Amino acid sequence: MKNEVDYLIIGQGLAGSILAYTLLEKGKKVMVLDEPKLQNCSKIAAGICNPITGRNMVRTWKSNELFSFLNDFYPKLEKQFKRKFFFSTPIYRPFQNLEQQQDWSVQENKKTEEVIYPKNRFLEENINDKLGGLLIKNGGHLRVDIFLEAIKNYLLEKNAYQEKLFDFDNLILNNDSKNEKVVYQNIKANHIIFCRGAADKTNPFFEKLPIAPTKGEILYIEFSQIKSNKNLKHQEIIQKLNQIILNKGCWLVPFEKKIIENNLNNKAKGLNQNLITTFRTGSTYNHDDLTLAPTEEAKQEIETKLKAVLNLDYQITKQEVGIRPSTRTRYPLMGTHKDYSQMSIFNGFGAKGVSMIPYFANEFVEHLFNEKELDKILRVNKWLLK
Ligand SMILES: Cc1cc2nc3c(=O)[nH]c(=O)nc-3n(C[C@H](O)[C@H](O)[C@H](O)COP(=O)(O)OP(=O)(O)OC[C@H]3O[C@@H](n4cnc5c(N)ncnc54)[C@H](O)[C@@H]3O)c2cc1C
Repeated sequence: MKNEVDYLIIGQGLAGSILAYTLLEKGKKVMVLDEPKLQNCSKIAAGICNPITGRNMVRTWKSNELFSFLNDFYPKLEKQFKRKFFFSTPIYRPFQNLEQQQDWSVQENKKTEEVIYPKNRFLEENINDKLGGLLIKNGGHLRVDIFLEAIKNYLLEKNAYQEKLFDFDNLILNNDSKNEKVVYQNIKANHIIFCRGAADKTNPFFEKLPIAPTKGEILYIEFSQIKSNKNLKHQEIIQKLNQIILNKGCWLVPFEKKIIENNLNNKAKGLNQNLITTFRTGSTYNHDDLTLAPTEEAKQEIETKLKAVLNLDYQITKQEVGIRPSTRTRYPLMGTHKDYSQMSIFNGFGAKGVSMIPYFANEFVEHLFNEKELDKILRVNKWLLK
């Protein structure tokens, strides 16, 4: 039986998932093909969204639009799917040096309602934040693995997902009006959209795009179990770390809850017995080694940065690798192919997929439906002419 859809999407990372959801919400018929055995950098991403980034601590491009969109989008989907995956969490950025601190203290205009400049140190003993730091209120993190699973279930309910390796050799494109514009095995579609992340670097239709994949590695760490009352201070610190994303040279983001034994002393102090003790920390950026093998160098790099900011004993429980779909322009790439009006790409979200994809999926759908102009920097066709 042929499956007839409006849009055939290749890839169920964050880009393909959110684009498929957005199209379904607009009443379109969609089919997503994904091969889960291939690398999917979304699944291992720390999921942080941060409106103030970089060494100079400046607002990210379009941060107002992106953050007002995502702060509606993810909580709305949590309600719809009855799953918890989005955590609004302030980001604490201790100053790296005196210059950075002074820059912030003198420039009143940099202070916004989003950024608190606490002046006081956040955790006096265990965090190296002698110069104080910034608390960025509008930050957060997405448990991307849970989010992708929820979207996959939603797509399955809508008969809009198949676990399948897409092979260009089986793709038929028709430019006459008599036939379906896109045929792939038993699927007929009006339009195909590639969301294959870093794999689209070798997409034969879009190989001229400036996709420059970057390998990233992260560590899962666990702080030692709290077994005695003597460790209550330690427990308080971990509870405090659970309320923030720490970001100095590297980031440290809460990951998972573990139940630890309660005791009378804890109860008397009102401490929560459900402590999150697993965190993720990272990450690295490597343009040369694009293998999926974890490396000792990356582990050491992350550990050196972590130890420079945090003085607590921990155990590494896991190391993971992903290849980000970064671009040479540092902006995402989207649009329809100049020679094939039934073919598009939605890609290039680099290290910022969580904050960028919800807003740009909406922009891209508006472009497809209503020819809304895309920002020039995002358009693909100028690259295809080269
Ligand atoms: C270590 C690390 C940490 C990160 N941390 C953050 C963070 O904190 N915040 C943030 O916003 N971003 C972060 N990122 C970046 C984030 O992961 C990306 O921006 C985003 O996930 C890109 O999503 P994507 O859908 O474009 O690509 P992917 O997630 O790579 O998805 C591509 C999908 O296409 C499928 N596919 C490819 N080829 C085929 C084929 N032939 N047939 C079928 N399916 C195919 C793959 O199986 C995969 O599911 C991080 C990345 C790494 C590596």
